[in-house]
Order: sequence, then C-alpha cells, then structure tokens
Amino acid sequence: MYEGVNASEGIGIGTVAVAVEPDLTFTPHTVEDTEAEKARFDKALETFCKKTEAQAEHMKTSVGEAEAEIMYGHVTLAQDPELGGAIKASIEGGTCAEQALTETSTMFENMFLSMDDEMFRLRAADIADIRTGILAELLGREVVDLSVLPEGTVIVIHDLTPSMTATIDKKNVAGIVTEVGGRTSHSAIIARALEIPAVLSVSNACGALHNGMTAIVDGFRGLVIAEPDEKTLAEYTQRREDFIAEKQALEAFRGKPTITADGFKKIMACNIGSPDDVKGALDQDAEAIGLFRSEFLFMDAKSLPSEEEQFEAYRKVAVALKGAPVIIRTLDVGGDKEIPYLKLVKEENPFMGYRAIRYCLDNADEYKVQLRALLRASAFGDIKIMVPMVTCVEEIRAVKDLVEVCKDELREEGYKFNEDIEVGIMTETAASANIPDLLAKEADFFSIGTNDLTGYTMAADRGNDKIAYLYSWYYPAVLRAIKSIIEAGVKEGIMVGMCGEAAADPLLTPLLIAWGMEEFSTSAPSILRTRKTISQWTVEEAKELADKAVQCTTAEEVKALLEAAAK
Ligand code: PEP
Ligand code: MG
Repeated sequence: MYEGVNASEGIGIGTVAVAVEPDLTFTPHTVEDTEAEKARFDKALETFCKKTEAQAEHMKTSVGEAEAEIMYGHVTLAQDPELGGAIKASIEGGTCAEQALTETSTMFENMFLSMDDEMFRLRAADIADIRTGILAELLGREVVDLSVLPEGTVIVIHDLTPSMTATIDKKNVAGIVTEVGGRTSHSAIIARALEIPAVLSVSNACGALHNGMTAIVDGFRGLVIAEPDEKTLAEYTQRREDFIAEKQALEAFRGKPTITADGFKKIMACNIGSPDDVKGALDQDAEAIGLFRSEFLFMDAKSLPSEEEQFEAYRKVAVALKGAPVIIRTLDVGGDKEIPYLKLVKEENPFMGYRAIRYCLDNADEYKVQLRALLRASAFGDIKIMVPMVTCVEEIRAVKDLVEVCKDELREEGYKFNEDIEVGIMTETAASANIPDLLAKEADFFSIGTNDLTGYTMAADRGNDKIAYLYSWYYPAVLRAIKSIIEAGVKEGIMVGMCGEAAADPLLTPLLIAWGMEEFSTSAPSILRTRKTISQWTVEEAKELADKAVQCTTAEEVKALLEAAAK
C-alpha cells in the first residue's frame, strides 16, 4: 500500500500503465548561423502554440472552460516577450536552441519556485510543461499521449502536466497516480473536474508500480493498493459501486428545489474561497453562496488587495449567481489564518486574540476598503455582508456605522450600490450563543459557524489530538448553543443559516429543520446529498427527534439516537 495526497475523490480499480516520458536529452553545441537557429526556435514555438491551442479547444468541451484557460495560459506564457527575448539573446551568443530554451526556462522556473506565493509556484510547473513541449518539437519527439489508453487504465506517471491531462479520454482512465503535486496543483484541479480518482505525490510510484499490475486508487483517503488480495478487491469493488450508485441517485435531486418531505422550503447554498470556485458550486446546483471566505483573496496576494481588485472579485461572484444571494464574509484574519504582510505580532493565544472583526475595527481604514468594494459590487447582485467572530452588540453596531460612512462616500462619488444591503453575523463564538436574542435585533441574518462554535463552546482546539474527543457538535453544550441561536433568529424574523461543516452532517439535519433553520451552506460535493437528507424529513418527525435529542445527557447518547433515526 502506498500513501499520497487525496487529490480527487472516488475509487478507481484498473490496470497500471506507467507512462514513460519521452527522451528529451540532447547534446549541447554551438551554432554558427544564429539567424537560422532563431528561426528553428520560432517554428518549434509556433507548432507548440498551435497544438496547445487545439488541446485547449478540445478541453473546453471535454473538461470545462475554466480548465481550458490553463492551456490558453500556457500559450500566453510561451509567447511571453521576456522569456522569448532571453532565449533569443542566448542563441545570438552561439548557444543551440535546445540549450538556450533549457537554461533560460530553468532560470524562470527557479525564480517562480523561490516565491512564497502558491500562485507563482504553480507558474513554475507551467514553465516546465512548456519547456517539455517546445523541446519535444525541437527534437522531433512526441510528448506522452494519453488519448489512446485501453479502458480501465490506472495512469502512473511522475508528473501529470496540464498538457498531458488535456489529452485524457475520461472513459478509459480508472485512476491517476503521480509522484509529485498537491491538492491545488493543476493536475489535481483537472482530475477533479474530470471526476477521475487521483492520488498524487506517491513517492517512487513509477518504480514501485509496473505495467499490467492491478491497482486500487482510493481518492478519498489518498491510498494506492497494488495487486490487492481478493478480499480487499471485493471490498473496494463494493465501495466503488456504492459510491457510483449514491452519486447517480443524487442526480435525481439536481435542478430540484430544496424542500422537506412536507413541503417546507430551504436554501441549499455553497461555501467558496474564490470566484473560481463558483463554477464548481453551480455545477453542483448551489442555489446561493452561503459563505465566501474573503480572506483567501488576501492570503493569495502580496499586499492588501485594492478596492478595485476586491470589487472585481465580488462583482464576478454576484454576476455569476444572477441575483441569488451571495454572503461574503469580511476578512477573518488571525487564529489559524495567517496573512504575512499584515505583520501581526505572534500571540500567546491567537484563537482568543487580535483577530477577525477585532482586527478590522481597529484598522478601520483598511476595513473600509473592503466594505466599499462590497457595496459597489452589491449593484450587480444580491450581496450580503457577513461579520466574523462577533462576541458583542457593540461590534455589529460599529460595522453598521462604518457601512453607513462608506455609503455616504460612495453616494457622493456617484457610485451605485444596494441601499438596503444586509449586514449579518457569523454566530461562532460562545458569547454569541449566549446573547443571540440581543444580536438578532441588530443583525439582518445569522450564519452559524459550527467549526469555531464547537471549539469555543467546548474550549477544545480541533488541531489537538489529545482532546479531539471533545471537539464534537453532538455534545449537549454545542447542540443547545445551535438551538438557541436558531430559535432566537427565527423569533426575530431574520434568516438563519449554517456554514460550518455541521451543515453537511446528515445526522444533524433533522434537528436543524426542527429548530427552523432556513439555509444550509456546505462545500460543493455535499450539496445534493444534503438536499436529499432534507427531503427525507417532515418538520413534525424532525421535531419529535429533536425533543428526544435535547433530553440526552451525553454526546454518545445523542449520536446513538441520531444514528438510529437516520434514514
Ligand atoms: C466556522 O467557523 O464554522 C466557519 C465556517 O468559518 P471558518 O471555518 O472559516 O473559521
Ligand atoms: Mg470560523
């Protein structure tokens, strides 16, 4: 058994084909006719770009528009004047085209690799991919062609570059195993888009796995099992079938409204981290965005993103949602979310320290940039502002005051925005669960952040293995917190949703229905499953179960009760 990164979910069972990369070795030599050598390079570049554009066109229909953009990005990068200029300058000095390309592109690659930003490091992989493509053209060799594999193939390869992935015929590939790459690499993104189970970063996979071997690719747990025994094979075959059957059954819920068995309407929303995630949300039939974690915009940047940059990102999401609600959480920095350029001083207890709304209110000028961008984007859709880590009424009042200041400024500057933009709060602190009635009078909506609420209520850090048993929303303390937040919101007539992981827990769904929760916001893959669970309960049945759940005294009792009642 080999361990790697679980990059694309699903179980793949098939026959290994180790993809051998072409021999791109060459003998460096000096050239006399540098003009002819430059022309040879230009021709190779042109052919590479044409082939890549053709792959991108093919990819638009076989994978998706966003993934095809990666290939178009290769063309743009290959034609980059700085890169091309440096290669030509090297050829003019008498270096052969192959050597000039290799040396120059490696220099660019190393430059990107040395940057802190993940986006730039991805660029390094693109440069390496481009080098392979152009070098193959110069040497007259073919790069790996994955379009002609037999059905049921488990591709094992050192690195699956975007250009190789573009040629994959999805119906023939059971799984993908690579020796490098993480969850955010382009290969992982494309494997997920193609819905092919993938395990990346399995060290020495190409040496350990051989052509013709049977292999199981467990994309859930990041495991590869070579030559499984009969029992393991039978187990995994069953798991694969169950997974496929469940996925197919869930298709029946696509395009359907989210309603309880007795017809009460709910909202199935999605959590996203960037505008690029919207496609995945809509593909999985999200009706709204329940949480846009805006801090990723800040984490991906080298310095504070400008009002214009933020406005563009928020506008993009609002437009894509075509008038459906988009809840954008303002900067939730601190705790486990570090943003180096903000230069926050290391604290003894960061989870109880200078974070989220505390930081923002203390840096009102920075915060106003975000609020102005959100307001301006609200002219393009139903954007709602959500404030994280609220512990007292003073905080939400202060944010609302700032929003009013921003509105005045924007009005004066002639910008359009939604005058009635909603400002809601994440109820995720123990304090908020104690005063939900007071907060409900100030906020336009609640969204329960159970990830933090569980931790703060139980005083248990989820990263600490020794006390992991305490980090559970089945404890009566957490259930009561959730119940009181929902009921206070419902009483005040505001929308109550949940965007923590508990929103996707099918055991908890009936309790949330019973207490009157309206919106469930989950990650994209959980949307259809949660819609299905909601459809299985009537409010009356759910209330009956909830009444029993609140009588329980331990987490174990609660869980056993919910498991026994699960449909
Ligand atoms: C939460 O705390 O439940 C939540 C959704 O926010 P995050 O996980 O980003 O802290
Ligand atoms: Mg949180």
